[in-house]
Amino acid sequence: MDMESQNTERTLSEALGDSLRHWEPMARHTTLKVGGPARWFWAASNVETLAQVLGLCTKHEIPYLFIGHGSNLLMSDAGYDGLVIQNRCKGCIVGEETQAESGVSFGSLFLQTARAGFGGLEWAIGIPGTVGGALVSNAGAYRGNIGPLVKSVRVFADGRDQTVEPEWMEFSYRDSRLRRSATGNTVLLSCVLQLTERGDPEEIVARAKLYQAQRRAKQPLAPSAGSFFKNVINKPLAESLPNLTPGMKASGVIPAGFLSEACGLKSLRVGGAEVSEKHANFLVNAGGATASDLRTLACRVREGVQERFGVTLEEEVLYVGDWTGWS
Ligand SMILES: Cc1cc2nc3c(=O)[nH]c(=O)nc-3n(C[C@H](O)[C@H](O)[C@H](O)COP(=O)(O)OP(=O)(O)OC[C@H]3O[C@@H](n4cnc5c(N)ncnc54)[C@H](O)[C@@H]3O)c2cc1C
Repeated sequence: MDMESQNTERTLSEALGDSLRHWEPMARHTTLKVGGPARWFWAASNVETLAQVLGLCTKHEIPYLFIGHGSNLLMSDAGYDGLVIQNRCKGCIVGEETQAESGVSFGSLFLQTARAGFGGLEWAIGIPGTVGGALVSNAGAYRGNIGPLVKSVRVFADGRDQTVEPEWMEFSYRDSRLRRSATGNTVLLSCVLQLTERGDPEEIVARAKLYQAQRRAKQPLAPSAGSFFKNVINKPLAESLPNLTPGMKASGVIPAGFLSEACGLKSLRVGGAEVSEKHANFLVNAGGATASDLRTLACRVREGVQERFGVTLEEEVLYVGDWTGWS
């Protein structure tokens, strides 16, 4: 171990004791079930301790990667040569202004708010991951998105703990400023969501179940990271596609899966990675896939769609870890 790693080892061991793990396989912590080891790994369950550890990492220049449930990332086979911090901070106080720590699971947030008679998050049922992960990618489904519900966010940014307005997040379609500084040093600690819709808990859950049923009918069960590419917004192309629905033609939104399927890419395989037969925008681990298999498959899909339709698909999934040599 070089001198720098020895110092990091000492600093982290002193601060975290037995809760610090070494060479933790990241395949255990991602929904795609791939990814090499994290040199150091720690699960944070208390926001105040987390903020202190982040301060320590900043002070000692220890590289860290913050993750939720690993449902929107592709960790490299080489893993991460630094500290991976997994978010298990799950405090939540439900009300018209719901305060949620960023490690609350999105599904649990929906259930807790629905049971208290607050609507507005029905679309969130079935989206895996944490509230923090949802904020990073402005997660959404069925025309609902998390961004418009956010009232304030507590972040660890620029080396300090601060509370910011939603505008600071720069939310747009499956995007926020945190994606643009992917694997950067900003961590979302908690947020306040404004929930104004009141209703009968049973009716709220029943509405959500309709979305859940649609999801189950369309999505594969094999390990995935959800939709791999973002939908394409291109009105001229949308209008030129004969099989696209009138609504999609009018809005100019083309599902990435539509383009992939039209290129005949369903069931395309690279090693253990496969374009799902059920949904052409889901790249699944069909058994024994490596992260490289999945990334190679993603490149093939991007190339196929580029060649046939002249558009460049943009990943919704984030590449993390060491991807040196890949483009
Ligand atoms: C079957 C399936 C279906 C899905 N369906 C949808 C869908 O309908 N709509 C949708 O939007 N998404 C969907 N997804 C994608 C994914 O579930 C969401 O993007 C989710 O919000 C990611 O949360 P996470 O905690 O797993 O984030 P992770 O995958 O752990 O992290 C994603 C990125 O965010 C960063 N990050 C995570 N938490 C924080 C934090 N607190 N502070 C700073 N950075 C952080 C990580 O470093 C990483 O760069 C689906 C995924 C799967 C597997």
